[in-house]
Amino acid sequence: MPTSIEPACTEGPIGATTRLTIDLDAIAANWRFLAETATPALTGAAVKADAYGLGAARVAPALYAAGCRHFFVAHLGEALTLRPLLALDATVYVLHGVPPGTAGDFVAAGITPILNSLGDLEAWSAAGKALGRRLPAVLHVDTGMCRTGLSAGEVTRLIAEPGRLDGVSLDLVISHLSCADDPANPMTARQRGRFLDITARLPTSGAPFRRALANSAGILWGGDYHFDLVRPGIALYGGHPIAGKATPLAPVIRLESNILQVREIDPPEAVGYGAVHKVSRPTRVATVAVGYADGYIRAAGNRGTALLAGHDIPILGRISMDLMTIDVTDVPPAQSQPGMAITLVGDRLTIDRVAATMDTVSYELLTRLGQRFTRVYLGGAA
Ligand SMILES: *Cc1c(COP(=O)(O)O)cnc(C)c1O
Repeated sequence: MPTSIEPACTEGPIGATTRLTIDLDAIAANWRFLAETATPALTGAAVKADAYGLGAARVAPALYAAGCRHFFVAHLGEALTLRPLLALDATVYVLHGVPPGTAGDFVAAGITPILNSLGDLEAWSAAGKALGRRLPAVLHVDTGMCRTGLSAGEVTRLIAEPGRLDGVSLDLVISHLSCADDPANPMTARQRGRFLDITARLPTSGAPFRRALANSAGILWGGDYHFDLVRPGIALYGGHPIAGKATPLAPVIRLESNILQVREIDPPEAVGYGAVHKVSRPTRVATVAVGYADGYIRAAGNRGTALLAGHDIPILGRISMDLMTIDVTDVPPAQSQPGMAITLVGDRLTIDRVAATMDTVSYELLTRLGQRFTRVYLGGAA
């Protein structure tokens, strides 16, 4: 029987037969679990990339209702979309700093940039001095990821020239862990050591600044990593933060579609593009209207699985742009007819397991799930 869903709110393209269900209450519950784990540190949320693809306009207000007041996005454009959806006691931070000519936009919208270089700091400090007040700011220092943040040399210059903080209220100093998902990697402890050292030497703009280091996995490394504020992302969305450790986090998404067609074929027929899957027995092939253009990554061809009436169903052949083919030979025909519901993500098909069959991580799976599905949001702020 097709699964029936009572939607709290449904939005999506006309005629879409695939449903992406996003449980906002599960996201809120995951946030509360992380907040309890991190207490007395504050807990924020990474909602960049449209809340990891799940819809920041729905996710961020649900997190706010759960108690979150610190929201991290990548770009100014994301922050400008988010800002009006949150009350003014929430802070929206832009991870990618202040692009040239945008300081006025940050100030006008009340958005806080994360300054990644002395150049960023200079632009923000100039904007503050021009306005005659100190503008709230976050400084990102690199502790070993070598991606964004002040380099060691820039930190040294800032310590020597504290006047660079004129016009700025330095509220928070952050760094980012590169290997926290690997419990055996000594990099995480090394980065913490560098973070302690740098934050002990940095000048302040008057009042002491807060410190933040941990992403989702960092939170689970324990209190030494929590500092004053933590920034979980993937764990909120049901991802497994640390490889090989049990996760207490609730699953958040389900991806379900319906069988479009069923056909019976015999050897030596082959299924799909490239005719790469040659069947070795009489086979019932079902077609499902989900493909790589929907974010179901092509690497899952011939490897991934779906669930149908409790059975694990192998994906046959390559993933097409808008379609995939699955082997329903072992499911009774009464349970594998056109229109019947199949699950692509959900139950034992966790986002981590599905991502693994795609040679990728849950982060990429979530952010690729496109806008072609009917989206069903469960729960959330009243
Ligand atoms: C994305 C991001 C996070 C969240 O990371 P997760 O691994 O998803 O918890 C935290 N901090 C920064 C700087 C980020 O870019």
